[in-house]
Amino acid sequence: PINQTQISFSSNSVNEGYARAAVAAFLSQLDPTVADLSDVRTAVSEAVTNAIVHGYRDRLGTVYISVKIYEDGHAQVRVRDKGCGIPDVKQAMEPLFTTGGEERAGLGFAVMQSFCDSVRVSSTVGKGTSVTLIK
Ligand code: ATP
Ligand code: MG
Repeated sequence: PINQTQISFSSNSVNEGYARAAVAAFLSQLDPTVADLSDVRTAVSEAVTNAIVHGYRDRLGTVYISVKIYEDGHAQVRVRDKGCGIPDVKQAMEPLFTTGGEERAGLGFAVMQSFCDSVRVSSTVGKGTSVTLIK
């Protein structure tokens, strides 16, 4: 990368806005289109919400975000938690799959995929989850 930053914050849902704004502020140096910036904000929002509501479903923890900018103008945003992990990532990424009951649609990963060029998820049960978004 030619530039990078990292932030971390407590898994309170009030921090979702902070995470979105911080990533967007860093990426604004790329002079992105309004549409591209909005796409990244949406995808980051979904990943951060997942870390907070699923990763740390029964406790407060720390959410880590790293943002990298590459020479060719691509950006990589990685959202990581040290929460419960995902037993079956392939199943979790299927549209409409949710463990969140009635109040969740199961569309977060589908949204990330449609708003980013690439979404990679690695997860270990009991250790946590890492979601890497490329735009
Ligand atoms: P929505 O995002 O539409 O509100 P959702 O969060 O359930 O609903 P996805 O974001 O697609 O849907 O996630 C699918 C499922 O993957 C979740 O229900 C949860 O079981 C699991 N999951 C996603 N992110 C994490 C995470 N960081 N830690 C643990 N489990 C996760
Ligand atoms: Mg979700």
